[in-house]
Amino acid sequence: MALYENGAYVSVTMEFRCNLRCVHCMIEKTMDRLMPESRDRFDALLDLNARTRKWRGLILTGSEITLLRDLTILARRARASGFRHVRIQSHGMGLSQPDFTAALVRSGIDEYFISVAGADAATHDAITTVPGSFARTLRGLEILDGTAGVSIITNTVVTTRSFRQLPEVVARLAHLRRLTQMEFWVYFPMRESDDKNLVASNREILPYLRRAIADARALGRAVEVKNFPECLLGSDGPTLANGQPELHTDPAFWAEFARNGFHQCVYRDRCAARECLGLNTAYIQKYGFEDDVLRPIAPRSSTPQAGSATVA
Ligand code: SF4
Repeated sequence: MALYENGAYVSVTMEFRCNLRCVHCMIEKTMDRLMPESRDRFDALLDLNARTRKWRGLILTGSEITLLRDLTILARRARASGFRHVRIQSHGMGLSQPDFTAALVRSGIDEYFISVAGADAATHDAITTVPGSFARTLRGLEILDGTAGVSIITNTVVTTRSFRQLPEVVARLAHLRRLTQMEFWVYFPMRESDDKNLVASNREILPYLRRAIADARALGRAVEVKNFPECLLGSDGPTLANGQPELHTDPAFWAEFARNGFHQCVYRDRCAARECLGLNTAYIQKYGFEDDVLRPIAPRSSTPQAGSATVA
């Protein structure tokens, strides 16, 4: 269902500063102490790929990668070393400056993964906490859309603040011809509790998420969903793609990530879902195990057991 094969890409965190303060930021508490990958490690990654051709694409990421002063130099070097694609993950505000965007494209950055927090300025700006950010991100997307040779992917983090707007996000971006894939990443707080009341109920998210998936597909977009129970998605189950490209980052990140406590589900032992992360600790603390809502997926070759669900 996804357009971009995660295994063909490698991600490297090169910048941990940011000029937004999104309420759902996964690394807000650790941003100041996480260290970007060194230039030596970046060079080693390029050398490795030049020798092995292990990956087709390089993803430059971190907090806000466009704040990195030598971003275009790194992109040029990556392309020269043999990467066929260089992607940046960004909030897109910097792309509202046409000259800046043109320089990025000239350096070889051909894929743009842009975060869109909401469908309108009021919602998006309240989530990013920076007035005017929606207008700048949208302008950046439109400049990219008018630029030959680039592809756009958007991501919307699904929280209590955004889930009702998912179909409207799709509608608001419907005019972008270079938008190839829309992603919906359901929020997890990187800790054991939902201190900011951002974790939304899967039951409540479901109708909005499935509507957004259907609308995005109708526009010809690929769709990728992360961190949502596979059994609830029905025929949209194949949109669930929890895999990520190999990530080269500060090891301290993984200690924080482990606090989420994924893979909890009362049906785990008898569910044939391959992609599902189950529930996480913060979700269970807030909503319980929801064993009355979840339905284990039966193995394809066997007869479904009573109380089991196949993806329908
Ligand atoms: S039953 Fe549990 S493990 Fe299986 S798809 Fe549903 S949430 Fe995931």
